Amino acid sequence: MLAGHAEKLPGYAVVDSSLDSSLSAAIIPVTPFQQNCTLLWCSETMRGAVVDPGGDLDRIQTAITAHKVTLEKILITHGHIDHAGGAAELAEITGVPIEGPQKEDAFWIDQLATQGAEFGFAGARVFTPDRWLEGGDKVRFGNVEMDVIFCPGHTPGHVVFFDPIARIAVVGDVLFQGSIGRTDFPRGDHAALINSIRNGLWPLGDDVTFVPGHGAPSTFGDERRDNPYVGDSVIGED
Ligand SMILES: [Zn+2]
Repeated sequence: MLAGHAEKLPGYAVVDSSLDSSLSAAIIPVTPFQQNCTLLWCSETMRGAVVDPGGDLDRIQTAITAHKVTLEKILITHGHIDHAGGAAELAEITGVPIEGPQKEDAFWIDQLATQGAEFGFAGARVFTPDRWLEGGDKVRFGNVEMDVIFCPGHTPGHVVFFDPIARIAVVGDVLFQGSIGRTDFPRGDHAALINSIRNGLWPLGDDVTFVPGHGAPSTFGDERRDNPYVGDSVIGED
């Protein structure tokens, strides 16, 4: 859908334009952690959502304007500052609601202001989401409906957003190309993370392209084959 425009417009596209999907996406790396804030929108209505506006709101707003998207909501995968630090300010500026993460991440969101001061994130603020999410919920913008997958482990309230038609998942810090999320933070749980990936993500299909919280997109199939932490050769296929 964005083929040929990627160099002119902010962010880069990940959606396979051969699929009969109305989802478009542009990735906008933000913050000193180069977190993949993702602008998702419905190409039929041009209404969209920003996933994980950790900071650098000027860059996010430039992308929204350049792609001519009307913002409908903010979606949060988990409460870490590089993912959620800019959510309160963006919600205030745009007047749209914040949905997610799952409520077990409230203790992370409550620390956003203090962590913002510590890590130099100007404007990071505490917020209460307009809607906490649970596995099995749906989130909607325009004519797009995405499934919410509960994937605890990196944080206890981490969620993933999956479009079964576009075959795209936005997975935050659950899974990366060649790696998995850290579990050495408070309430991190390595066994829970492995379970989330095996039983929450793999069943969605090997063909699914995922946008990780950092670094390049990949597919679940590629990670099942090659990932040294959760590949089938490491943890078995059963
Ligand atoms: Zn994180």
